[in-house]
This record gives sequence, C-alpha cells and structure tokens, in this order.
Amino acid sequence: MSRRKKEKTNRKVIFLLLVSFALPGCGSARHDQKYSETKMLMGTIVKIDVCLDQARLSEIKDAYVGVWKRLEDISSRMSFFNEHGDVARINQSGLNPVSVGEDTYDVLKESKGFSRLTDGAFDVTVGPLVELWKESERNNSLPSQEEISETLSAVGPDNVQLLAEQHVRLLNLKTRIDLGGIAAGYAVDEAARLFRRQGITRFFIDVGGDIYVGGKNCSGEPWCIGIRDPRDVSKIIDIVQVTDKSVTTSGDYEKFYVIGGHQWSHIINPVTGYPQEDVTSATVIADRAVATDALATALCVLGGEEGTKRIDALSGQYASLIIVKQESGDIRKWESEEYKKYKYKK
Ligand code: ADP
Ligand code: MG
Repeated sequence: MSRRKKEKTNRKVIFLLLVSFALPGCGSARHDQKYSETKMLMGTIVKIDVCLDQARLSEIKDAYVGVWKRLEDISSRMSFFNEHGDVARINQSGLNPVSVGEDTYDVLKESKGFSRLTDGAFDVTVGPLVELWKESERNNSLPSQEEISETLSAVGPDNVQLLAEQHVRLLNLKTRIDLGGIAAGYAVDEAARLFRRQGITRFFIDVGGDIYVGGKNCSGEPWCIGIRDPRDVSKIIDIVQVTDKSVTTSGDYEKFYVIGGHQWSHIINPVTGYPQEDVTSATVIADRAVATDALATALCVLGGEEGTKRIDALSGQYASLIIVKQESGDIRKWESEEYKKYKYKK
C-alpha cells in the first residue's frame, strides 16, 4: 500500500471510530460485562458487543461465527470491486439479465423504494458519477460540465430493471450500481436478525457508523449513542437514548475527494452530478438499519430544511438530526420532531 493511501485509510479508520458510538450509560457509572469482537469488513471497522451471560458464552461465540459469515457473504456479493460478486456481475453484464442472490435483489428493491421516498436523492445508480469524481481526484482536475451531463444520462433508478426470479437487468450500457450507501445497513439488520434467532436480544452492532442496538444495554438501561460535534470531533454534540433501534450517521468529513486542495463530499447529488456541499453530518434513527443508512445518505443531499420537512412528513417512522455548515463558518442543527424524543436531556 502506498504511503498516501495508507494515510488516507488511517484517517478514515480514526474517523469511523469517532462519528457516533455507544456510551456506557447516559447517567450511570455502571459498566456491566459485555463480550466484544471487532473485524475489518466491507472496507470499514465492524464492532459487535453482546451483553455477557457467562452461562451462555459458548452459545454467544457460536452466534458470532454465523454473523461474521453472513456479513462476509453480504460484503462479497454487494462490493463494487469483487468481480465475482453480484454488483460487479450486474455492472459488467451489458444489457443482459443477471441472476443475483436474494439479499442483493432485496437491497436493490429497497433502494428503489428509498429513491422514491427521497425524490431521487438516494440513488444506487450514482456509480458512474462516483467513478467520474474518483477519476477527477486522480487527475486533480474538476470534471467539465459536459462530462457531468453525459454521465448523468446513465444515472436514475429506472435504468435498473428488477425481473422475476431474482434477475436484474441494466437498461443503459453506462449505468453502474454502487451499494456503498445502503449495503452496510442491510448487513447490520442481518446481524441483528441472526442474533435474535439464537435468542440473543441485547447487543450493539456498528458497521462503520451504521449502528443497531438490541434491547437494553448491559446495565439494563436504554443504549446511549453519542453523536460527535463535526466542528470538534473530541466533543459530543448530542446523545440519543434508544432501544431496538438503528442510528446511522453519514458525514462529509470521513471520506472525500480532494481536488485542487478542496475537499468534496463522497455523497453525490444524483440530480446535479456534484457532491453535496452543505451538510456536515446527517443522523437518522429508525427501526431498520437499511432505512437509516439510505436516509442518512439522502439527507446529506436534501439538506437541513428540505430533509427535516420530509422526515417530519413521514409521521413518526424516522427521526433525524442534520448539521449544516453556515457561511459564517458556524453550524446549524436541524432536528426533526421525532428526534427530540430520543435526545438525552441531562
Ligand atoms: P458512509 O457510511 O461510508 O459515510 P454513506 O452511507 O453515506 O457512506 O454512503 C456513501 C456512499 O454511497 C458513497 O461512497 C457512494 O459509494 C454512495 N453514494 C454516493 N452518493 C449517493 C447517493 N446520492 N445515493 C446513494 N448512494 C450514494
Ligand atoms: Mg448510507
């Protein structure tokens, strides 16, 4: 690995540890026992804690084996880079139907739903735009408006057709699918499902900032998730208290493209073709991580006012905190109505 690449990876790893995380308890100083395993997977750090019941330790360890295997499967099927995976096979298929795994098919179906729900702000066909911006970073030169317009013609959920019997077909030769904004969330939900199937109900799962907490924490209280202050990541801007919920934060300061010394967000507006510029971080709370992952990405595109309005209109299903940069250099916090209910008040 080159030094530059290594430095970038390290920076990302540090950030991922910081973006949002479980606190031992909001008020209590009790630290009850938990069992923990951590791995690098899906290009990020995956950390799973289970509240420890000594009598069931070997059962808990067995459950982890199943969960890691499932996460590895999802990762290899949904990776943009694994040429044997479903996503790469679709992307290389020309216009031919491709048979994919049930999970990839489900994620593509969910993705279309979240595109509709967000009026196209979430769109897994951003693949060609992601490639264009990566290429621009390599050349240290912004893409031209012509290149962006041309690339945009291959972007849009209608370019992906979901056929019967788990077959998928691209309708445009240049369309490329990128599940980077949703696959981790799906993986988190699957891990939670597998633990519950084994009768394990109190756990904390974190796939690079996509979090799910099962039941009460290991002190018997709701889990407390700290959300970092984007102005100073050594500080917490908010704490939310949750049980059986997913909390996902997408930020603009974790992964980005550097072109001409300027940092461009890795989240791209599928309508304009440009990286979003206003949102520093968006956090979503909901029952499923597949939803919080997709919506946190979408809210970065929609922005504070529009994003919050839409979340509020979905009558209590989702909660959001959107942190927006102001011209003054300060930030503005946009909290949805539902979010206020989760916020921990000292
Ligand atoms: P992270 O958790 O890594 O911060 P996100 O869940 O916010 O990431 O997803 C960002 C990734 O999703 C990008 O790196 C890219 O692969 C893809 N992506 C970028 N823009 C969009 C978009 N508007 N809709 C869906 N996926 C996107
Ligand atoms: Mg996402």
